[in-house]
Amino acid sequence: MYKKDIPFFAETLNTMFPDAKTELYYHSKFQLLIAILMSAQATDKQVNKVNRNFFEFLKEPSDGIELWVEEIKEFINSISFFNNKANNIYKTCGILIEKYQNNIPKTIEELITLPWVWIKTAKVFLAVTEDAPYIWVDTHVHRVLNRVWLVNTKSPLETDKKISTYFSKHNHSMLHNTLVLFWRYHCMARKPKCETCPFQDKCKYYKNVISKIK
Ligand code: SF4
Repeated sequence: MYKKDIPFFAETLNTMFPDAKTELYYHSKFQLLIAILMSAQATDKQVNKVNRNFFEFLKEPSDGIELWVEEIKEFINSISFFNNKANNIYKTCGILIEKYQNNIPKTIEELITLPWVWIKTAKVFLAVTEDAPYIWVDTHVHRVLNRVWLVNTKSPLETDKKISTYFSKHNHSMLHNTLVLFWRYHCMARKPKCETCPFQDKCKYYKNVISKIK
């Protein structure tokens, strides 16, 4: 795939996943921030399972500080790093009340001052809530963009730097969601659905690997 194919790539992803949005369960920006924080090293499915119950008790930051940290741990103990995550959920609720009057900050600079909110978390949060022009390149997005040969890079960080100049700002937040759905349901690490893939004839991985083992 060449740079000139980028509009085709972006538009085809939009067609494949027309209603692309995060699959995390939430009812407010606050709950989304907490869900993203919990999703580190855990699947959306695991986090959603916990939060369908937990979020009945955690609707606002003030609900968080009314819980004991031990109670938060009880709610979320089926997901990885639940001790750290529970402590950070509690601290985050306190900071949101004291520093932001119960609101959620809207800039990366402010968001990353919250416990366990890295640039990735901040970008995902702002892409979903503010339609901000960010694509977070994790290992999966890095894999897909290298497979189709839109980039030829060694790390997600390198891919991130490269593609931010490739796609128009207008496309970024939509692309963030469509790319996640593409690697999750179509171009999986193992057994990608190459036979029904609209990018097959432009894909380096298909040409160099899949077609040779058929
Ligand atoms: S042809 Fe296969 S490897 Fe290439 S993008 Fe499509 S699903 Fe992924």
